[in-house]
Amino acid sequence: MMDMTNYLNRQLSGVKASAILTFANFAQQIPNVINFTLGEPDFNTPDHIKQAAIKSINDDHSHYAPANGTLTLRQNASTFLAGKYRQHYTPDEIIVTQGATEALYTAIVSVLNPGDKVIIPTPTFPLYIADVTVAGGQPVLVNTAATGFKLTPELLTETLAREGDGVKMVVLNYPSNPTGVVYSSEELKALADVLRDKPIFALCDEIYSELHYDQPHVSLSNYLPEQTILVTGVSKSHAMTGWRTGLLCAPQPLINELSKIHQFTITSTATVTQDAAAAALGAGKDDALPMRDAYVARRDYILTALNELGFKTIKPNGAFYIYTKIASDLEQDDEKFAYDLAEKGLVAAVPGSYFGPGGEHYLRLSYATSMAEIRQGMTNLKDYVERQRAE
Ligand code: PMP
Repeated sequence: MMDMTNYLNRQLSGVKASAILTFANFAQQIPNVINFTLGEPDFNTPDHIKQAAIKSINDDHSHYAPANGTLTLRQNASTFLAGKYRQHYTPDEIIVTQGATEALYTAIVSVLNPGDKVIIPTPTFPLYIADVTVAGGQPVLVNTAATGFKLTPELLTETLAREGDGVKMVVLNYPSNPTGVVYSSEELKALADVLRDKPIFALCDEIYSELHYDQPHVSLSNYLPEQTILVTGVSKSHAMTGWRTGLLCAPQPLINELSKIHQFTITSTATVTQDAAAAALGAGKDDALPMRDAYVARRDYILTALNELGFKTIKPNGAFYIYTKIASDLEQDDEKFAYDLAEKGLVAAVPGSYFGPGGEHYLRLSYATSMAEIRQGMTNLKDYVERQRAE
C-alpha cells in the first residue's frame, strides 16, 4: 500500500506535534492533580457580552459578515486601541480574524517567500515556529535567557548581521507567553531604531495587552507603525477563548493584501461572535480590570511560594504565566522533573524546554486557575520538593 503521507507538503514533516498538549493530556489523567498547564482564563465571559450574542441570534444575524469584519466591531476595535494604547488604526486597517491564531497565520503566510528568515526570540509560544515552517520560511531562534528573556537591540543587531539580508520578519510577543515579561517604551524604541527603514516586518503579538500589571502597555506600533503588523484580540482580555475572535491590524494598503489570505482561508468569522466582540470592545472596554487584579494577587502568591522553595523567577509583569527555574539542588532535566512532579507531587507545570532554547531547567506555571487551586498546588509542590530533598 502506498504511504500517502510521503506526498504531503514537505514543510509539514518539519512541524512537530505539540509537546505541551501531550504533557497536558498526560497530566489531566492523574487524579487530584493541580493543573497549572492551561493557557486560558478560568473566568467566564462577562454577562453583557453573552447577552449581545443572544440578541444577535434573535435578530437573525445569521448571514456572512463582511470579509474583514463588521463595521461596528472594527470601529469599536479602532476606538479601543487608540484609547487604551495610542495605537492608531482606522476601521479599514483592521481585519477580524478567527482568534489571534488566524491573524498570526495570515500575517506570516502573507509576508514570507520560501527561505525567508524570521527572528523568533526564545523561550517562545511555539505556534510562530510552526507557521513559519509551513510557509516555507526559516525560523531563526534567538535565546534570550541571558538578557532577562527579552530581545535587546544588541542581540537583534548581532542576529541581523549574522543572518544577512534573508531576514524578513521579527516576532515580538509582549506580555509574553511563556515568561510574562513585558517591554518598556525605551526598550521598544531602541528595537524600533534597529529595524527602522529596513525591509523587515515586526509581527507584534499583543494578545495579553490588557493583562499588563505594573506599568501601562506600550506597543512597538507606536514607534514603528509602517513596519508593524499587530495581532491582538479578545480571547484573554475578555475571557473569550472559545469565541475565536482576533484582530489583525496594519497600515493600508498592507491590510488589503493580508486580507486576501484571510478571505480565501475563512471568508469571514461568525457574525454572532463579532457582535459579541463588538460589545466586549465597546461597553466592555474595561472588563479585563477585575480579572487583572485577580491575576496580580495570584502571581504574588505563587512568586512568594516559589521563592521560599529556592526557585528563581523573573517577576512576570503581564499575561498569566510564571516561568521559574528549578532549584539547583533538584533534578535539572525539566521534562523529567515535570513528569515526576505531576505523577508523584500532583502538580502539573509545563517543561520549560518545550518553549525553545533558553527554557532548559525551567517550568511554566499558568495561574489562570482559582486561588484555592493555587494554594493547594503550592502546598503539593512544597511537599514534593521536601520529599526530594530528604531522599
Ligand atoms: N498568542 C499567544 C502568545 C498566546 O498565548 C495565544 C493563546 N494561548 C494565542 C496567541 C492565540 O490566541 P487565540 O486564542 O485568540 O487564537
